[in-house]
Amino acid sequence: MASKPRKRKHHLEWEGRRYRCTVCQWTWKKPPRSACPGVPCYRVDDLPSYLVSQPELHRRHLQAAGSPDACYFRLKEPHWLWLFDVRKATLLELPKLPRFDVVARLKAWWGSGPVWCQWCGWRPESDEDWKHFTSLCCDSCRFEQEWLRQRKSVCRWAHDLVQADDWVFLATATTGIHSWAEVIELAVLRPNGEVLLHTLLRPQSLIAPEATTIHALTDPDVQAVPTFPDV
Ligand SMILES: [Zn+2]
Ligand SMILES: [Zn+2]
Repeated sequence: MASKPRKRKHHLEWEGRRYRCTVCQWTWKKPPRSACPGVPCYRVDDLPSYLVSQPELHRRHLQAAGSPDACYFRLKEPHWLWLFDVRKATLLELPKLPRFDVVARLKAWWGSGPVWCQWCGWRPESDEDWKHFTSLCCDSCRFEQEWLRQRKSVCRWAHDLVQADDWVFLATATTGIHSWAEVIELAVLRPNGEVLLHTLLRPQSLIAPEATTIHALTDPDVQAVPTFPDV
């Protein structure tokens, strides 16, 4: 089993506008107080395919050659997720499978170990757990990765807009923050503040109480208004 790198200081270099750690590659405006993970830090959207987490390494019947080669920073604790280079990993001894019997082989392979989230190592056990686990990833890791991806694409989109002069502001209020939330208030404004469109929309689902605390809209408010396709 590989040991985690010790906590250490960043190796900071001033790049003119920001500090960069030459080890983990993170950048800051001010010298950071955090510890350096001691290995390059990747984001989920630029993670090379040869870097995998410990649970994934084990799932592939591989064993890390040494300490982690990289890391990935996640919002959920523990924040550091260590990554290993599969090209350096060695093969674990495979469980002895009965010869020639393909059914037994398949069963042995299928039952050869528990299944876990390839990111955080969480294991679904109950039927309820299995509802939150698909494609070797738990819901919370999937949510976080999706969130990071969306945040990046929204940033890119906003950046592109600011570059162009033919753009408008789009503001929305929704039934909640979950992925299936519906838009219940929509406004389109010119950069000079001119309102091109401002309307309430009737959703097909109910408004979550948490959402009401933000925009103060309740179900009766959006009962007698058009639906999104109408607008
Ligand atoms: Zn560092
Ligand atoms: Zn997970």
